[in-house]
Amino acid sequence: MAEGSNLTRAGMRRGPLMLAIMAVALAAWLWRRGGTPPLGEIAWWCAFLATTLIRIPHAKKAAAIPTRASHVDRQEAWLMLLVTAGMMLLPFLQLATPLLDVFTIALPRAATSAGIALLVPGLWLFWRSHADLARNWSPTLELRQGHRLVDTGLYAHIRHPMYAAIWLIVIAQPLLLHNLVAGLGAPLAFAAMYALRVPREEAMMDRHFGELYAAYARRTGRIWPRFTR
Ligand code: SAH
Repeated sequence: MAEGSNLTRAGMRRGPLMLAIMAVALAAWLWRRGGTPPLGEIAWWCAFLATTLIRIPHAKKAAAIPTRASHVDRQEAWLMLLVTAGMMLLPFLQLATPLLDVFTIALPRAATSAGIALLVPGLWLFWRSHADLARNWSPTLELRQGHRLVDTGLYAHIRHPMYAAIWLIVIAQPLLLHNLVAGLGAPLAFAAMYALRVPREEAMMDRHFGELYAAYARRTGRIWPRFTR
């Protein structure tokens, strides 16, 4: 299992293809919407590009660090696919093609504003959690060689700041996109991932770090910060 990371590397290999799809979707969206794209859609693209830019350097570094133990199975692979569909492929379909137009919903401008307001802490948390986790980050259930238990920065108070960030971003999605399918796909897909992955991730950390992790879990909150000494 020790050979250099597998899923992270596979992700890196798919990287150029993903970037190409992204560029085509962006160009098609600009072309479709002409000079006046809706504010919510602009905000969605800004957030999407920001999360991509935050993640790329971490994904590049992570691909170079060998994996010590991988717990990626069929369930985990399906969850990753589901979340990619909800957070990327459905929005691309809505924005770049007319296929999801029938699912458009009329939302007040306040909804768009609320979505943008959620993105601000969401993106900040996303950026900080990647910085705090540094070389210990992986996109899936893996432990790196020389994996360290991070309990500083955001991780001093919450065990899953990156998932907290993703919650904020996926809840913002329907408020920004005003489309039932492309909007709700993300929170539904992420809800499934969160519910199924978090217990497994914590069990993996618990097996690996033992009492160190158990004590860490007692003094932190899952996605709601706990401020104890
Ligand atoms: N659940 C965390 C991390 C997501 S990245 C969050 O939401 O912020 C997923 C990987 O991070 C896991 O596979 C695990 O290897 C690693 N990880 C999770 N918590 C960690 C911690 N406190 N210290 C070090 N690595 C951690």
